[in-house]
Amino acid sequence: MEGIKEKADYCLNCKVKPCSNKGCPLHNEIPDFIKEVKEGNIDKAYEILCKTTVLQGVCGRICPRQKQCQGSCVRGIKGEPVAIGDLEAFVFDKTMEEGNSLSKVWSEEIKENKKVLGDKKVAIIGGGPAGLTAAAFLAKGGVEVTIYEKYDYLGGLLVHGIPDFRLDKKIVKQTVDNILDLGIKVEYGKVLGKNLNLDDLEKEYDAIFLAFGANCSSKMGVEGEELDGVYGGNELLEYDMHPNYEGKVVAVAGGGNVAMDCARTIKRLGAKEVKVVYRRAREQMPAENKEVEEAMEEGVEFLFQNNIVKITGENKVEKLELIKTELVQKEGDTRLSPVNVEGSNYIIDADYVVMALGANPESFVKDLNLSLNKWGNIEVNENYETSRPRIYAGGDLAGVRGTVAWAAFSGREAAKKIVEKLKEA
Ligand code: SF4
Repeated sequence: MEGIKEKADYCLNCKVKPCSNKGCPLHNEIPDFIKEVKEGNIDKAYEILCKTTVLQGVCGRICPRQKQCQGSCVRGIKGEPVAIGDLEAFVFDKTMEEGNSLSKVWSEEIKENKKVLGDKKVAIIGGGPAGLTAAAFLAKGGVEVTIYEKYDYLGGLLVHGIPDFRLDKKIVKQTVDNILDLGIKVEYGKVLGKNLNLDDLEKEYDAIFLAFGANCSSKMGVEGEELDGVYGGNELLEYDMHPNYEGKVVAVAGGGNVAMDCARTIKRLGAKEVKVVYRRAREQMPAENKEVEEAMEEGVEFLFQNNIVKITGENKVEKLELIKTELVQKEGDTRLSPVNVEGSNYIIDADYVVMALGANPESFVKDLNLSLNKWGNIEVNENYETSRPRIYAGGDLAGVRGTVAWAAFSGREAAKKIVEKLKEA
């Protein structure tokens, strides 16, 4: 508690609370929970956090806090921001240690809400951050919830997309158990389009929330992308399909957290050299600064303002042709755009290339009879409703920004909208 007390005391409890209003996607009541930590009221701090989130232990550890809550902290203007993430994680850990839980905190509300919606049933497809959060807030709303999950575990990318060195799986298990303790049912090994279909679910449930993610890595569209040795970053992490990297040179294309997770994992798995190729400058990287710094300390190299234009090799990756870029301000663009510098091409050796440039939903989504946007994400309105009545969607499947907190936000808000709709019915 020593270090924690100091961290909490450092908070100014600002009235305007930009950390919460501007920085935190979930709008966690940051100064209020920190105030309780200052006074040693951890149960109260946990209760305050539970109003807006059920992923305290996870978000406290892996949120890109420099770009979210801590990036907006008033303390950060002249010095270090308040360590909001550490404090949130502390509250969760202490809560678990002391046996408090969501079901205890919400018990009265759930009892009351069940009187109104106790006969309503909602199915959730996918048990990642969006699905788990929606499940919890639906259960809080008094609804009976069943999660249909592809794997034999819940957590989604929290388990298979984020390496252990960034998120201890014990925290994910505690988080999942805490949520399931609300009385949520789970059917494991269920895959939409294989042993599960929307038409059947529609008959059985009052509403359905789709949250099974978008895990197919985007391609660059460059020559040689089909060669052996080119991997998608999401698939590499999700299916643990790493080749033997011993003595090999690996290029990772991208600048987000998936790129950092891939680069650091591959380096730890014994690659001789790992080079991150990113089109823009370091300041524009979507990955959190801490992740970039740690990757650098671990020996990952960065080729900023470089772009892959061609991958070559007999049958497998052997070389990459790169080109340098310059950053220009294009009319109407909010950020600098990379433009290839003509004649600056050069060749590097590489054994593997990992594409970590974003991800799209799986192709079976096209067969669900739902409107999709131009990127293949399920289209939703401001209430998270899809084009099919009573079917909602959230998380990156619905094109929500790719951080855990944003996915959780969509799950929470969709749950609220579903509860409102069920009350009207
Ligand atoms: Fe505390 Fe920083 Fe939020 Fe102010 S902005 S309330 S100092 S965490």
